[in-house]
Amino acid sequence: MRFHRLLLDSVAAVAALFSAALPLATEAASPATAGTSVAQRRAQVPGVYRYRVGDFQVTALSDGTVPQDLHVLLQGESPAEIDKMLHHAFLSNPVEASITAFLIDTGRRLILVDTGAGGLFGPGYGGKLLGSLKLAGYEPEQIDDILLTHIHTDHSGGLVSEGNRVFPNATVHVGRGDLDFFLNPANQGGVNGYDKKYFEEAVKTVGPYVKAGKVHAFSRETWLFPGIKAIPTPGHTPGHGFYRVESRGESITFIGDIVHVAAVQFPKTAITIVYDVRPSDAAAQRESQFAAAASDRALVAAPHLPYPGIGHIRAEERGYTFVPVDYRDRHEP
Ligand SMILES: [Zn+2]
Repeated sequence: MRFHRLLLDSVAAVAALFSAALPLATEAASPATAGTSVAQRRAQVPGVYRYRVGDFQVTALSDGTVPQDLHVLLQGESPAEIDKMLHHAFLSNPVEASITAFLIDTGRRLILVDTGAGGLFGPGYGGKLLGSLKLAGYEPEQIDDILLTHIHTDHSGGLVSEGNRVFPNATVHVGRGDLDFFLNPANQGGVNGYDKKYFEEAVKTVGPYVKAGKVHAFSRETWLFPGIKAIPTPGHTPGHGFYRVESRGESITFIGDIVHVAAVQFPKTAITIVYDVRPSDAAAQRESQFAAAASDRALVAAPHLPYPGIGHIRAEERGYTFVPVDYRDRHEP
């Protein structure tokens, strides 16, 4: 997924209007909130959500959220029908999309799945990953490996800051198809109407790791580490990949951009989004992976589902439903 820039401008304009009106609405602060600023009382605390998978700890790290104008972005269904589906899910257009990265702590290695948008969506949109990572108790220098589900700005943007590698000790693992497509000099002007920005941003974010000899590409199912397997799932992008993590009979699969909008694409897997490089392949991949995950009762994690985006996919009479995991907050014995 990539953020729709026209929308960014209009949302920023609306946000500016609201913030201009704020002082009037908040003058009468209660004594209980004295000493804290309005900004503090409105900000979400950086998102950290832990989930245990066998011997491994998985931590969902919020990079923030961005609004998505689904009338513009979705393909294969009318805006009226999309509005009906959103209404059914107690939502309305535009819909907020989470951007989530996941940290796998195996006890031996620290492995990050995707890196959020970094600074590439501009102030206020994404870029919260490092704050979440630190709050979770880790530093970027400690990350050993990064598993990119694919090379799109909101997954690879956090790899760099002002041209420098944010994770200096990490090797980036990514599907060969994405390296060949997005970093190919011949594609830098855009391909078949697919915006050249995707390619420019890929060079900016993954390029420094290529230069440093810190990229490992895979083109078939590959065990990267004990219990962690890369699985090519092309469609959304040519080198899009899942990562399946197994420990002590439990598993979780990181499913990347197989889904962008839960309220619409679980009930109707044929609905695609303009970010898909090959929309019909993306829809076919979604249908077959949802069917497999539902029949296996597989635990999955997806970056754009509402944070933390960890749960199961249930087959319904028609289509599917996403069922988030339960919440736990207690000391393990
Ligand atoms: Zn994407």
